[in-house]
Amino acid sequence: MEFRKLSKLQDVRSTLTKHSSKKYVNDGINEKTDIAIHHSLTKMDLAGSNAEGYARYHVNSLGWPGIGYQFVIERDGTIKWCHDLGIRSYHVGNSNRFAVGICLSGDFRTEEPTDAQKESLRLLVLALRKDLPNYQRTRGHNEFPGYAWKQCPLINYAGIIAAPVQTGATKPAESLPNTYTIQEGDTFWSIANELTGVSVNDLIKANPDVTPTNLQIGQVIKLGDAVKVEKPKPKPTPPKAPTKSIEQLAREVIDGKHGTGDVRRKSLGSQFAAVQARVNQMLANDKPKPATPRKTVAQLAREVLDNKWGNNPQRAQRLQAEGYDANAVQREVNRLAGSSSPKKSVDQLAGEVIRGEWGVNPQRAQRLNAAGYDAAAVQRRVNQLV
Ligand SMILES: [Zn+2]
Repeated sequence: MEFRKLSKLQDVRSTLTKHSSKKYVNDGINEKTDIAIHHSLTKMDLAGSNAEGYARYHVNSLGWPGIGYQFVIERDGTIKWCHDLGIRSYHVGNSNRFAVGICLSGDFRTEEPTDAQKESLRLLVLALRKDLPNYQRTRGHNEFPGYAWKQCPLINYAGIIAAPVQTGATKPAESLPNTYTIQEGDTFWSIANELTGVSVNDLIKANPDVTPTNLQIGQVIKLGDAVKVEKPKPKPTPPKAPTKSIEQLAREVIDGKHGTGDVRRKSLGSQFAAVQARVNQMLANDKPKPATPRKTVAQLAREVLDNKWGNNPQRAQRLQAEGYDANAVQREVNRLAGSSSPKKSVDQLAGEVIRGEWGVNPQRAQRLNAAGYDAAAVQRRVNQLV
């Protein structure tokens, strides 16, 4: 079993609170085709926001045979192993039989999983994919039949599983540049002015080989370790030297401007291989796409409504990190979702839902959440009304 090799794994199967007489069925590992991701809905820093606490609650308050999940990933990344994989514990209703449950401690309506949790989730899912002989897919709780209304797990688990967590200085939200590229008009003094926590002396110290009075546009200087707070405000990029892009060169090749064979090789020099590869690609596709198409605000808003960017505040951070204007996207989302300010009450929304104005779940919940409303609260009101 791959998951048993994980360094953060802790076997608590025999120590967690269990019901004195009720027992879960063990269907065996071959039944498990799915992994279900949950959050605990308890704040991470709360006492008892751990496997032991959930086990006590599930047994003593809910009367279940034992804890509902196979695994709990706690704030520090510890993976508590709670049940044999084949156990049919309670976490996704009718899907319990074929789903292994992983719960991350935390209330992700208001907090974010820690880097340690993300990394443990990634490693655990990767291991379980190998360990479950009939593994098919990983889903969030609300992607299981009957749970579209559930605000669980509210994290972009797919993104977390796909990429190792970047820690420390390279974490996007807090990332700081190590270097700065000189732009027109820059001096050490102007740079220090723009960078909170950096002095001219810091820059001189970090760049012993650079003459401050002779900075060249495009020159890269070090910021040293003096930078603690924020990046320089980006200035509009000065026009670059007129070097042609691979894309342009490839088009020229196709237009016959670089000849063939050795003539082409010579004409393109060190760019030859890259350009030729692009030419081959272009000729293979009838309509070559631009390398990195930028999305419009309208496109992004639709993606947000389709839940492709997760929830706020992470959503806004992701959009910004990709260079988009998160506020503009949110305005468009609000417009599309019909929630121009002032905000609607839960009762108003419930009425609109009943009239079919928000569509059906799971898209309905996504739209409501995307528009800044509490879809679960609206759903509860709807259930009272109908
Ligand atoms: Zn859940």
